[in-house]
Amino acid sequence: MVKWVYTFGDGKAEGSARDVALLGGKGANLAEMASLGLPVPPGLTVTTEACNWFYNNGRVLPPGLQEEVLKGIAGMEAITGRRFGDAGRPLLLSVRSGARASMPGMMDTVLNLGLNDDSVQALGHDAGDARFAWDSYRRFIQMYSNVVLGLDHELFEEILEDEKNRLGHEFDTDLTAVEWQHVVSLYKEMLEEELGEPFPQEPHEQLWGAVSGVFSSWMNARAVTYRMLHNIPEAWGTAVNIQAMVFGNLGTSSATGVAFTRNPSTGEKTLYGEFLVNAQGEDVVAGIRTPQSITEEGRIASGSERPSMEKLMPQTFAAFREICDRLEAHYRDVQDVEFTIERGKLWMLQTRSAKRTTRAAMKVAVDMVAEGLITREEAIARIEPSSLDQLLHPTIDPKAGRDVIGSGLPASPGAATGEIVFTAEEAVAAEAEGRKVILVRIETSPEDIHGMHVAEGILTTRGGMTSHAAVVARGMGIPCVVGAGTMRVDLRNGRLIGMGMTLEKGDVITIDGSSGQVLAGRVAMLQPELSGDFGRLMEWADGLRRMDIRTNADTPSDARAARSFGAEGIGLCRTEHMFFDGGRIHVMREMILAEDEKGRRAALDRLLPMQRQDFTELFAIMHGLPVTIRLLDPPLHEFLPKTGKETREVAAAMGMDEAVLGQRLDALHEFNPMLGLRGCRLAIAYPEIAEMQARAIFQAAVEAARETGAAVVPEIMVPLVGLRSEIDYVKGVIDRVAQEVTGEAGLRIDYLVGTMIELPRAALQAHAIAEAAEFFSFGTNDLTQTTFGISRDDAARFMTIYQRKGIVDHDPFVSLDFDGVGELMEIAATRGRRTRPKMKIGICGEHGGDPVSIRFCENIGLDYVSCSPFRVPIARLAAAQATIAAKAVRLGDA
Ligand code: ADP
Ligand code: MG
Ligand code: MG
Repeated sequence: MVKWVYTFGDGKAEGSARDVALLGGKGANLAEMASLGLPVPPGLTVTTEACNWFYNNGRVLPPGLQEEVLKGIAGMEAITGRRFGDAGRPLLLSVRSGARASMPGMMDTVLNLGLNDDSVQALGHDAGDARFAWDSYRRFIQMYSNVVLGLDHELFEEILEDEKNRLGHEFDTDLTAVEWQHVVSLYKEMLEEELGEPFPQEPHEQLWGAVSGVFSSWMNARAVTYRMLHNIPEAWGTAVNIQAMVFGNLGTSSATGVAFTRNPSTGEKTLYGEFLVNAQGEDVVAGIRTPQSITEEGRIASGSERPSMEKLMPQTFAAFREICDRLEAHYRDVQDVEFTIERGKLWMLQTRSAKRTTRAAMKVAVDMVAEGLITREEAIARIEPSSLDQLLHPTIDPKAGRDVIGSGLPASPGAATGEIVFTAEEAVAAEAEGRKVILVRIETSPEDIHGMHVAEGILTTRGGMTSHAAVVARGMGIPCVVGAGTMRVDLRNGRLIGMGMTLEKGDVITIDGSSGQVLAGRVAMLQPELSGDFGRLMEWADGLRRMDIRTNADTPSDARAARSFGAEGIGLCRTEHMFFDGGRIHVMREMILAEDEKGRRAALDRLLPMQRQDFTELFAIMHGLPVTIRLLDPPLHEFLPKTGKETREVAAAMGMDEAVLGQRLDALHEFNPMLGLRGCRLAIAYPEIAEMQARAIFQAAVEAARETGAAVVPEIMVPLVGLRSEIDYVKGVIDRVAQEVTGEAGLRIDYLVGTMIELPRAALQAHAIAEAAEFFSFGTNDLTQTTFGISRDDAARFMTIYQRKGIVDHDPFVSLDFDGVGELMEIAATRGRRTRPKMKIGICGEHGGDPVSIRFCENIGLDYVSCSPFRVPIARLAAAQATIAAKAVRLGDA
């Protein structure tokens, strides 16, 4: 028989932190905390398998589940001394969702379940606090009605607002027992009117309704969107946690809160959190009242007058701090915890690995190595390579003038500028038009997710560092300022009112997620500094990785940027870009349009010094590091005019008859240029072009060697080779030029001639090609194109359809197709090295900057990956992770 239910509580648990897939993150960690002996209210977890059964069987609960749950509840009754459904000392329950991957706020929770018109009286009597009992009941009715009965929260909030206005109360906590009782009766009236039947009074009926409701919340629109954005499979399902309630709303010695064991924004090692006295559940994150800081340090930093938990409840605080330390040491990672204090007694309700900014992740990883908690390998493995993009966010130039119009809490670092929009829909619409926006809200809710995703930055006027906006923005790496209380959003008139200034939708503002400031207009920005923790981690990564990291750089500025990011050479310098510059394109066109070899040579003679200058500069910047230069690759028509107007202009500029030019253009026309006269075919048809390029390269190498004293070993790469005889021919041309230049200079030049592997035939014939080629570089853009027979320039049109229909699970132009393209690479590497054992092999396609593809390159033993300059740090980290993973596999095999 399948076991659907796992219990926890009283120092014991049937599950553990290892059971995340089965019990969800929340359930697994509640079990773990219970086993650690931490104060966790007893409860049970209904497995994700039960959720899948539920969906596979027309949304009914699996047989046997109810018996198991009731047995678990009996255990909770024994521990708490209360009884579920009892009118005297009722056991109340929380019914909580909890998936395998954390999906904050996406699914639903019902608190205070088991209350009805009778037990509410008993609860009040038992606690000696009728106000508390009615407060709990109204919360329960609202949550249950929303999650299970499908009623909108707003229906309830309107009633409560009206009552507060009528009674002249500002806060929910101002309402008395009698007043809450009246609110409850209003809720029930409204509900019966809406639904045609009264609120369910029978606790067991409530329970099964809530369990089904939580399962159903797995498919609500918010959860579905979140899963799509985060690649979470639908088949994972959610678990349901049923747990004894503890009460943070039992007067002034009670409270509820959330905390991070270290600062999630900076990574600083200080306990960091917020709480609310006399409150329950999500009050802290909902922004209903502004929460108080947990620590004195935090209170002072936020400039708040309201006492910290440290001050208000010193003993409970001490116990809490100790538990946080224990959890961190146990999980060896920063924890994000939820807790409740019931009349001075602390209860832990959740722990999970904390979401953090990349900057915080770096600091925590480096600090934890220093603290001896984790190894360098673990530190490196913990950083998601693609998240390094976050560090590349600009910050506001300290020298720039700041027109401050408001300020709030610095919730997610980086600065962003954009037009004001007030709704998620407006954000999405603006983004579709290519406009950059700052989403400005009073507070955000999970319904705003799609708008937050496309915004440059997020600004809210309410809420704390753990509010929805703050948590989500940090996760997405979007700059965010929350709780800008000096500003006001006037939604009705579409205005943002700041200090001394009223702004409207479409006006430009800048937010500084690192200081919390809101500025009018655009502000000068600085590019980020990549030192400190980042530098340290990169150093460790460099020490661990086996592969070299090179860059794809065509210009001196690319090369300089790449070096500052740590590139160890150029893996691909595309020479065609050099011919588009300023006056060069004219000379290039003269060369292409020349009637004969003599004409071509005349133009090439004028291109030579320009090309030589390019290489001299590149060689100087790279200072002795390897530089791979690819000979001219694209079909020549790419350099020629396309429209009639351009043709007329070019004809005039070249003093050529328009009709003659037209004929030459027609003659150069190809049906399928990507498979036409390009790559090494050009060098074979017009060897004088390759000659000129080789001469420029060798002369530059001589010059650079003389100037810098650092010898360069140019690696000349012949593109699109499919036949051994092709590389033989082109290599012959290059070698001859090398002889000539060395002779003239009286200097020896070391150089390599190699080839791109970008045709399936080249991969298969790699052993033959390697007899001439001294190195290989996988041009995986073309190799993917030629292996699939899919034009990469036309793929976008159907690749999204393919992905949507599940024909492919990812775009093979983004992440390597291991099975097809990958196998060809493996064949080529193996066969190439059979001929030339020490041959250097790398990759220079887009895939060279993709972490998953980098892992594959490690596994087939490539010597280096080459990627665009801004991806170099990502590649350094990904390559180190790949080495660590490969080592782990080898050890596992042994
Ligand atoms: P989420 O996944 O959205 O964080 P939770 O299941 O953690 O949802 O529930 C939200 C909040 O409800 C918790 O942070 C806690 O404050 C409150 N809560 C949950 N279970 C209990 C309980 N057994 N007793 C008291 N409060 C609870
Ligand atoms: Mg919730
Ligand atoms: Mg929670």
